[in-house]
Amino acid sequence: MSAPEIRVFNTMQQDKVPLRPLTPGKLGVYVCGPTVYSYIHIGNARTFTSFDTIVRYLRFRGFDVKYVRNFTDVDDKIIKAAHETGEDPIQLADRFVKEFERDVGQLRLLKPDVSPRVSETIPEIVALIEKLVSRGVAYESKGDVYFEVRKYDGYLKLSKRKLDDLMTGGGEREIVHEDQKRDPMDFALWKAAKPGEPSWPSPWGAGRPGWHIECSAMSAKYLGESFDLHGGGLDLIFPHHENEIAQSEAASGKTMCECWMHGGFLDLEGAKMSKSLGNVVRLRDALQQVDAEGLRYFFLSTHYRQALAFGEKALHDAEARVEYFYETLKKVDERVTGKDFGTGPLHVDPAKYLGEFDQAMSDDFNFPGALGALSGLFAEMNLLTDKPPVKDKALVGRTLVALRDVATKIASALGLFESVPSEWLLGRRDRQVKSKGLDAARIEEMIKARNDARAAKNFAESDRIRAEAKAMGVEIMDSPAGTTWKVAS
Ligand SMILES: [Zn+2]
Repeated sequence: MSAPEIRVFNTMQQDKVPLRPLTPGKLGVYVCGPTVYSYIHIGNARTFTSFDTIVRYLRFRGFDVKYVRNFTDVDDKIIKAAHETGEDPIQLADRFVKEFERDVGQLRLLKPDVSPRVSETIPEIVALIEKLVSRGVAYESKGDVYFEVRKYDGYLKLSKRKLDDLMTGGGEREIVHEDQKRDPMDFALWKAAKPGEPSWPSPWGAGRPGWHIECSAMSAKYLGESFDLHGGGLDLIFPHHENEIAQSEAASGKTMCECWMHGGFLDLEGAKMSKSLGNVVRLRDALQQVDAEGLRYFFLSTHYRQALAFGEKALHDAEARVEYFYETLKKVDERVTGKDFGTGPLHVDPAKYLGEFDQAMSDDFNFPGALGALSGLFAEMNLLTDKPPVKDKALVGRTLVALRDVATKIASALGLFESVPSEWLLGRRDRQVKSKGLDAARIEEMIKARNDARAAKNFAESDRIRAEAKAMGVEIMDSPAGTTWKVAS
């Protein structure tokens, strides 16, 4: 059975379209990365997790993916933050690149193949601006260089807006340096140097790039003038991605990108996700509250294009779900590890679950559908370990091994369950013990006393201890491998 064709919602077409690589078997993917003036925002963490999962799945399907995600390390916000701390702006940005990598590493985000920075791409940026000036779509004005939006016919084709509506509607973007522009909607490609700001030499004097030009220069440098997929949050459609398209296509005369993908907002208590709203919750703060894998699972619980409500209960439920998956894996591992069940038929065909997973992910990367396939697979493994519907132990064992193998494949395409189950479960238990103020040593003593009572066939005492533990919020579990405990959730 061959895997289904992948269809992707393309913002340009406002529809799901078949994914057709420009070069068979290869895909160039560009995702707008963070502006590194602070710790990564939880909303950005969702967007990057979505694209990480999409890249993982494309590789799972055998594509040779080149994944580029930039760092904006030259920007007004960085300069402002650096002035506040007295640091050099480039150094401050470098510090937050490291903090970013540390935080998203916990979410198991793959390192992109290339993570270019503005400060390292200045020659390409300057060359691109020169090209736009020579083509007559950009002009210099008092050391700044602006893109002249009315000289480029395709402007606003992604967001389906109209220039004249934007002009009268206003409010959506800051109109600055109006006296220097031919049209208030023209946007800066290059900004003349101001005292105390990082700057580089250029044909228009010392200055620094505007925000949008970096993505046009970097994507062309690493993926070529035309590439396959471009991703980012919904808030980037306008002006950022419109401006990228204008710059790239006016310079090359080619279609910049075949498919534009946009991730939905993370809704923090009803407030739309936006750095400028000031309602900032950092990924690092969130990771104090919830396990990183629980958070990743929470992000995947909703389609990447949908809004996702960030809330305590949903996070708690996600972590409990991850616990269930790890408990199942641990149980299955205990059952099958080191055993030979011979060859022969299987009780269920694991390909069924792989097929469901592919079906979901091929349909515009339906993450909840993919988790649904995983849930079905885990329910099957639970059934086979707890209440096997057939007596043939070798048949059950073989089936469990095959299901476990498929579970591992699916999980790694989603960036989940890469920890050793027993270690993850102990880590969760430690966090719960701490947050509920339990005494782990006391619980271990109770379990020992209960084991002694059981050995002495004093079942009244062993039941009493179990009940005492339960009253403390601790669940004692007996299995062939011995007695363990967990914090009841
Ligand atoms: Zn960008």
